[in-house]
Amino acid sequence: MCNKKTFPLGGLHLNKQKISALSPIQDAGIPPLVYIPVKQHIGTPAQIIVAPGDKVKIGTLLAKANGALSANIHASVAGEVKKIEEIQGEKGYFEQVITIQTSADEYEAEIDTSPDINSNIPQDVEEIRQKITAAGLVGMGGAGFPTPIKTTIPENKSVQYLIINGIECEPYLTADGALMLEKPEQIVIGAKLLNKVLGIQNAIIAIDENKPQAIAKITQVTKRYVGVNVAVCKSKYPQGGEKQLITAITGREVPAGKLPIDAGCVVQNVATTYAVYEAVMKNKPLYERIVTVSGDPSLTTAGNYLTRIGTPAEYLLDKAHTNKSQIGKLLFGGPMMGVSAVSLQAPITKKTGGLVVIDTASSLRQDETCCIRCGKCAEVCPMGLMPFAIASNLRRNNTAPLKALHVADCIECGACSYICPAKVPLVDYCKLGKYEVNKQK
Ligand code: SF4
Ligand code: SF4
Repeated sequence: MCNKKTFPLGGLHLNKQKISALSPIQDAGIPPLVYIPVKQHIGTPAQIIVAPGDKVKIGTLLAKANGALSANIHASVAGEVKKIEEIQGEKGYFEQVITIQTSADEYEAEIDTSPDINSNIPQDVEEIRQKITAAGLVGMGGAGFPTPIKTTIPENKSVQYLIINGIECEPYLTADGALMLEKPEQIVIGAKLLNKVLGIQNAIIAIDENKPQAIAKITQVTKRYVGVNVAVCKSKYPQGGEKQLITAITGREVPAGKLPIDAGCVVQNVATTYAVYEAVMKNKPLYERIVTVSGDPSLTTAGNYLTRIGTPAEYLLDKAHTNKSQIGKLLFGGPMMGVSAVSLQAPITKKTGGLVVIDTASSLRQDETCCIRCGKCAEVCPMGLMPFAIASNLRRNNTAPLKALHVADCIECGACSYICPAKVPLVDYCKLGKYEVNKQK
């Protein structure tokens, strides 16, 4: 195990509120209806291959990847396709979903549902890659970047580091921590599969120092598997940011506007790594994931739930005995980077690590006052930006300096907004600034 690692620039020490850190994973069960979006990844929506009236099983292919940045979509329940319609997703946009009315659990024949751990890693790299692609794997830390792309290294590039991201630095979220506590061996085998497909010898599982039980469990398992090690990272926000984690572990920097592979690195989330294990060793498509329900303790009972993709948020909130009438804001994700949902019916997707509920009083936006030029926003920015200057230029409709202020490098971590005593919505200005710079291209 290495000494505690961290990134050098900026960052915050947050009250982590990991209320459900040691809550065992509970099965959320099967809702009467699931709404499965055909776009749960960064690219074009998958192409639907079912129609209303079709009977499906758990794992049936519903929609085929439509291009390199797309991903297959599978049924998370057995039942009947009722509708193909547009509903409001987590971001409030209308998106195409396949609605399935559920019946008793019935799995596609090839899925191995036994609890046995399979450590017989296939020797054929193409077989591993093909199974990852068929299973519809995407980055489950929130990015939704299709996993097959990250496991195919372009000819002019090479990879030296595989980092498995087990940091989970957002307050409240504990889904990845719970997975590391309950499925450590499967995660380590998943890391070995990724080693194999990337053609490297060693994976590093990065874990926040605030997860001592997960560090102990994973470290114990790695003693039995050559080629997987643990790195303990300091508890600092946003330690789980891809660029921050790469610098912390390797000392390398991802060049501006480039990808981790340009620094010889591949980063995969622990949940994705577990999904790689399940896809390759159990023939299991990505149709369920662990989701934390947490937030204000007077509103909900925090817990970690094994949840079928397409489950409406409301169903999961009810499982956690949430007082829905008092919710001021429902976040898909954590309070720093999460998205405020406009509908309780918005479905859980492959990217949803948590639902966080905030009470009505705390959800009110505090009035913005004048910038007092304290410089705190620049101090905490992990990308070394000057958020106050970005905001001030945008307020004056002066978009010309935005490029030189490197707004495109903003990772939207929200640290600047959080620290600002004047309550300037700096991250919103940065998002707008990125949009403006994109327009100038
Ligand atoms: S949101 Fe952007 S500008 Fe603000 S601290 Fe994070 S990276 Fe820096
Ligand atoms: S933290 Fe807020 S008040 Fe301080 S310089 Fe930045 S924008 Fe201005």
